[in-house]
Amino acid sequence: MTTATAEHRSFEADVSRLLHMMVHSVYSDRDVFLRELISNAADACEKLRYEAIGKPELLGDAPKLAITIAADTEAGKLVIADNGIGMSRDEMIEALGTIARSGTRSFMERVAAAEGKEGAQLIGQFGVGFYSAFMVAGEVEVVSRRAGSDEAWAWSSNGKGEFTVAPVALDEAPARGTRVTLHLMDHAKTYAERWTLERIVREQSGHVPVPIALIEKPG
Ligand code: ADP
Ligand code: MG
Repeated sequence: MTTATAEHRSFEADVSRLLHMMVHSVYSDRDVFLRELISNAADACEKLRYEAIGKPELLGDAPKLAITIAADTEAGKLVIADNGIGMSRDEMIEALGTIARSGTRSFMERVAAAEGKEGAQLIGQFGVGFYSAFMVAGEVEVVSRRAGSDEAWAWSSNGKGEFTVAPVALDEAPARGTRVTLHLMDHAKTYAERWTLERIVREQSGHVPVPIALIEKPG
């Protein structure tokens, strides 16, 4: 990835607080991160489906929408990819660096008061799902190419106050959509194992309206 042109940015203060809370507070149930990332991938596919009604060319030669979960057990890496709508650079910065939602502060107050399980459920309810990736990953990379765009962008962060955004060569990016790579923390390596992923997908993502494929590169 081209680091020379990487732009460093700070999270908005509320995001930093939220991330700190995610990592250090009450969660016993870290499994929810996967549901959140799958739900974002499915939302992205639904958005593309909707936009493509008026602009069928957005689907190009890949009209089948899909979510792929790829686990690299040896490397302790988990990749969640979709070929949905994708994000432009500005959308990435807006969506993954700021929380414009007014519910965030009350979310954090409620989480601070909640017990573990309830706190985890609150994550989904308040729409701060993406950041739950930092419950299991020390480093998160997002590479995205918006449908119809000839640019791709990479976002990455260790969740500690800053993120970077950089352009990516098209051959290093998905042809369309978003790829989220999680570098799992030591305590979370089980999320690169097939049986764990299968269980969570079965338990939490059974009703997702986009097919989910699970690929494992065994360690
Ligand atoms: P929510 O899904 O409730 O909006 P999230 O924190 O889960 O909140 O995601 C924040 C935003 O990031 C989404 O609204 C979307 O704009 C963007 N985003 C996250 N993941 C993806 C993805 N896979 N494809 C496209 N956009 C995404
Ligand atoms: Mg979400």
